[in-house]
Amino acid sequence: MLARIGVRGGLRLDAHKERSTAAPIAVAPAPRVAVLPLDQHAGEAAIPIVSTGDTVAVGQPIARPGAELSAWLHAPISGRVVAIEPRPAAHRAGEASMSVVIANDGRETRYVPERSLSDYANITPLELREWIERGGIVGLGGAAFPTAVKLARATDRSALSLLLNGAECEPFISCDEMLMRERADDIVYGARVLLHALEADECVIALEDSSPQAADALRAALARADDARIRLVTVPTLYPVGGERQLITAVFGREVPSDGWPLDIGIVSQNVATAAAVARWIRDGEPLISRIVTVTGDGVARPRNLEARVGTPIAELIAACDGYTPRVERLLMGGTMMGIALPSDELAVVKATNCIVAASALDLQQRAPEMPCIRCGNCSEVCPAFLLPQQIHASARANDLAGLERYGLMDCIECGCCDYVCPSQIPLVERFRTAKPQLAAHLQARASARASRLRYENRRERLARLEAERRARLEEKRRLARQKV
Ligand code: SF4
Ligand code: SF4
Repeated sequence: MLARIGVRGGLRLDAHKERSTAAPIAVAPAPRVAVLPLDQHAGEAAIPIVSTGDTVAVGQPIARPGAELSAWLHAPISGRVVAIEPRPAAHRAGEASMSVVIANDGRETRYVPERSLSDYANITPLELREWIERGGIVGLGGAAFPTAVKLARATDRSALSLLLNGAECEPFISCDEMLMRERADDIVYGARVLLHALEADECVIALEDSSPQAADALRAALARADDARIRLVTVPTLYPVGGERQLITAVFGREVPSDGWPLDIGIVSQNVATAAAVARWIRDGEPLISRIVTVTGDGVARPRNLEARVGTPIAELIAACDGYTPRVERLLMGGTMMGIALPSDELAVVKATNCIVAASALDLQQRAPEMPCIRCGNCSEVCPAFLLPQQIHASARANDLAGLERYGLMDCIECGCCDYVCPSQIPLVERFRTAKPQLAAHLQARASARASRLRYENRRERLARLEAERRARLEEKRRLARQKV
């Protein structure tokens, strides 16, 4: 049974998914050379465990986590490690990241993991979480947060709900839609693995109400799995309902605290593609070495979804879609609303690459020159985070850090809704992105100062207590001495 639930704020945008959903998912050719940045996940960069000249097989671990918040990295092809050096990286908009570079030997030699966990229900949740970590699984919705870390942080909570996010509301992205249509069984299998890893009893798979084929496929997969713990929910197709906090509010009717996490209200959210990646690792022994990428836009000849190996140059994905059209103007990773501009198609697919838009002028919002704010309030009406973008903007212009904090800049999810409706053509999101690191540094410095002050005060109290105890002992000695006399 599908439920319909409301959501506040946001925009109804023209959908462009039909361009890329006409054809089924195709498998992109393996790259001739794979470039694998070591920091393509949230947290610390991974540490290479191979050296230049080493031979590697498909699925072989090539880097281990560099800290608690980090992730394993695996070879997506078989061949030889030809370099470990800084290379321009897509997730850093072309800035260099230390990367492992592998030349393909074309043999597709497979690495055999040391164990198989297809009997996952018979091992402990802890053991399962540790094995999920070894698969290099990260959030595939775009944030690339290491999945095992998210699971581990949830272990001391009771009454957990697992939310699988299938609501990709950016108008151009359809990779999750196609995954749900074609690989619904993987998602449901992954959901069951995650429920066991979390020791949770409820899973909600949420998708947009404009995806009936995906809903049908998931419903059929759920019937096959016959697992009453998992249910489907549809949400209105309203940008950006697929944002984690927005979807939680839409599905559960609860707000994630501004300075908190979904876990604070008992929810662990994962993308549907992450669940499918968990299934492939646990059931099939294949770590996260590929993902589905939407290649679309008026600037590409044959938009579609491709299963691409991590490390594949974007140019090779464009070639697999019959190349560019003469209208291409800009290359974006992510959608047109929240994506980042890429300086080159030589950059490689990373785990977070959900979509490549080869955009023409038709695809991009055309901007007139910026005008002063007329206080129309359009921006605050559409803000899904209930912020006052015009006030944040005024604080950003005045470099007023207190104002930025007061008006909740750090709660801005950079969805671009305010930009979209601003009649004065103010590049609000661009200004917010610039201001965020300054505010983050200020908040961090203040937190450090508070921690130092607390340490100082604790030390002073401890010394005073020790001194008082010393004096009391001395006094007691004198008293005893007087008694003896
Ligand atoms: S939409 Fe633009 S003009 Fe209107 S209040 Fe917001 S910033 Fe000002
Ligand atoms: S202020 Fe941030 S969250 Fe609100 S509409 Fe603008 S970009 Fe989106």
